This record gives sequence, structure tokens and C-alpha cells, in this order.
Amino acid sequence: MNSNPLRGPSGTVGEAKPSRTPLRIVHLLSGGLDSVTLLHDLVHRGYEVDCILFDYSQQHVQELAFARKHCRQLKVRYKMIVLPPLGGLTKSGWIVPNRNAIFLSIAVNFAAQNGIGKVTIGCNAEDETEFPDCRMAFIQMFNTMLTTAEVPVEVWAPYIDWPKWKIVALAKQHQISEREIWTCYQPKETGPCGECPACRKLLAAFRAESEQCEMRPC
Ligand SMILES: [Zn+2]
Repeated sequence: MNSNPLRGPSGTVGEAKPSRTPLRIVHLLSGGLDSVTLLHDLVHRGYEVDCILFDYSQQHVQELAFARKHCRQLKVRYKMIVLPPLGGLTKSGWIVPNRNAIFLSIAVNFAAQNGIGKVTIGCNAEDETEFPDCRMAFIQMFNTMLTTAEVPVEVWAPYIDWPKWKIVALAKQHQISEREIWTCYQPKETGPCGECPACRKLLAAFRAESEQCEMRPC
């Protein structure tokens, strides 16, 4: 039985494929590990996916090129939405207040217009301290809001209670390498900085995944 109410009906992503008629899903894709892995898994499971990408004048605009590459590789439709620049809570602009509410609202509108009942987002358990709009309570309340607004769309966040290393493990199953994703908030000319919170978190996740593999062969 599925204990995570935000996971969708088929249990852990990767376990089951939907029935003969592919279920359509709108997926929020950033080009980072979580959303790229979820995109590959949805396609692998047979879902028909439309991705939504956002250009909001983010410092790490490189992520969009990575996102597009995965859409092309998987032959998935995508829509690039250009927003006015979104401001950050910090000088660095890493934390954009209520960003997921903005992104999800637009994705839900697109889904509703096209008769699609599900929107997916790659939030995971390690986002919740830093990003309040990645918490399970936030996603649940967002779904309550949609019900109240009589919008027949539901948000799924299948990794919301996963540590990031589990997403790394799944990414490896899908042959997604570190070089095919973009995470860094503070890019240098030569590539990712290796020092910003996003780089550190990714590095820690890869390390944790290797340790898990040592304890029980992957
Ligand atoms: Zn970085």
C-alpha cells in the first residue's frame, strides 16, 4: 500500500507502468538531478509527459540547456515559460520566495487547459529545511487549494520523503551521469563552482550513495 499520499497510484516510481492508455502528466523540469531523474522515470514507466521549463532570469540559466537536452533525448514535448525576473530572499537569489507556488500554478493551468490531471515536481526530503515550498505540508495544501478552486488537477511529488542519495541511485539506473545535470547556483566560466549549497548537497548525495553501495551492493 502506498504510504505517501503524494506518490501517485503506482507506488514507488519505477515499479509499475500505467495501463494501455498512457496517463498524461505535466512535469516541472529544471535541469537538476531531481527533476531530470523523475522525467526519465516517468518516461520509462510509459507516461506521456509534457515538460514546463521556466526562465526567470535565474543566475544558473545553464540549467535550461540541460533540461532541453533531456527533453530532446527522450522525445518529450516541452514548453519554455519566460517570467519576469523573480527576486530572491538572499543576496545570492538562491531562495526565491514561494517559487514553487508560482511554477505549480502555471503548470496546473497548462494541465487543466489540456485535460491533463497530474503535475509532477521533484521535491525531496533534503529540500525541506531550506525550501519551505518543497515540504510535504506545502504540496498537500496546494492540492487542497486546487480542490477548493475546483481544478481537476493533482500535484504528485514522488520523492518528497526520499533522501537525495536515493535519487542519485535511481539516476544511475537510468544512466544519467553527473555531467548531464546542472545544479550549481553560482556557476563559474569553467563549470559548477563546487562550493555553493547546491553543489555541496549534490556532492554529499553522491558520496552517501557510494557508501550505501558499499554497505549493500547496488
Ligand atoms: Zn555551485
